[in-house]
Amino acid sequence: MKTQDQIYDIAIIGSGAAGMMAALRGVLNNDKVLMLGGSPKDKKRSRAQWVSRVENMPGYTIYKKGIQDPNKETLSFIQSSPFSENLTFHKNVGAEDISKEEDGLFTVKASDGEVFKSRFVVLATGVMDTQPEIEGSIRTIFPYANVQTVDYCIRCDGHHVLGKETAIIGHNESAAWIAILLHERYAPPHITVLTDGKNPEYSDKVKELLELYKIEVKTGGLDGVRGDKKSGKLEGFVMCDGTIHPVDFAFISLGMIVYNKLAENLKAETDERGFVTTDAKGQSTIEGLYVAGDLRANTKKQIYTAWDTAVDALDDINAKLRSYKREELLRIKKENV
Ligand SMILES: Cc1cc2nc3c(=O)[nH]c(=O)nc-3n(C[C@H](O)[C@H](O)[C@H](O)COP(=O)(O)OP(=O)(O)OC[C@H]3O[C@@H](n4cnc5c(N)ncnc54)[C@H](O)[C@@H]3O)c2cc1C
Repeated sequence: MKTQDQIYDIAIIGSGAAGMMAALRGVLNNDKVLMLGGSPKDKKRSRAQWVSRVENMPGYTIYKKGIQDPNKETLSFIQSSPFSENLTFHKNVGAEDISKEEDGLFTVKASDGEVFKSRFVVLATGVMDTQPEIEGSIRTIFPYANVQTVDYCIRCDGHHVLGKETAIIGHNESAAWIAILLHERYAPPHITVLTDGKNPEYSDKVKELLELYKIEVKTGGLDGVRGDKKSGKLEGFVMCDGTIHPVDFAFISLGMIVYNKLAENLKAETDERGFVTTDAKGQSTIEGLYVAGDLRANTKKQIYTAWDTAVDALDDINAKLRSYKREELLRIKKENV
């Protein structure tokens, strides 16, 4: 284990939508920033890796990979700017543990064995959508998720259901509400809820609306996917009784895996779903530990909210750093009078 001598102002954990915006803001604020981008495993299981064309943000349809491509541009801007020395980026390195020492500094243990010290930490490790297990594997759905004939985010891609035979895969009431919302907004030819083999418990209101909108709920379970794996064209789901349920498009609504391990190690407060609770600027219940992006409780789980929460956090940290330096200068001035 090698501990670095340098004390960074801010350690940013994660380099997705929130992490990169945090790095940009920190660098332009003229603070010394360390960013750990995540180990190859961290990256593979991040939403940043999955996002392809972004259609709900002005000017973004030019990118094939809506987070990775603009992030590369931002990184090369930083690295060729007069502020380049403000950023130390460890691209394929994850944070394995973080502790807060008695002197108030954070110690970040990295996956490559290095140990870093910082005054503030910004956690931007995100979440991942729970995948359905079909044919004994979560990988069965990947060829379709890759080209977004299977989707996860209603606010980003809900409009894709227009004119399509649509299925919602999920057994909670929220899956039924997604079906109801999509029917009311886009009225696709059919919407069916496929409960992934589980029996849902719906409220009377939901039952009434499902009936009103003729939204069928099939509880038999999924046994396969029909479609062209190469192009990602979805044709339907093979049900456990052997029948085929034809669809053009599906949403997965099975909940989220929240990457909150580092926050929990530090004993930061989380809500009932595991998201880290913060004040309005993004500081958690641990002083100096900030959270940005999807990991933060009560946010929209979008790229633009990841950006906004990152900017709020970095500006608040910068205000604290400046205030500390200002008070020090005033103290020294007083002593020298
Ligand atoms: C299929 C799909 C499509 C979407 N489309 C859109 C869209 O069109 N528009 C929109 O606004 N939003 C979209 N979203 C939502 C968007 O992806 C998220 O809101 C956004 O990525 C959140 O940013 P984040 O930085 O919190 O997390 P992420 O972008 O997922 O980044 C997490 C980062 O943390 C890193 N990491 C994890 N663990 C560690 C660790 N221990 N140490 C170091 N690093 C770590 C990962 O490597 C990654 O860099 C979509 C989501 C999905 C799943």
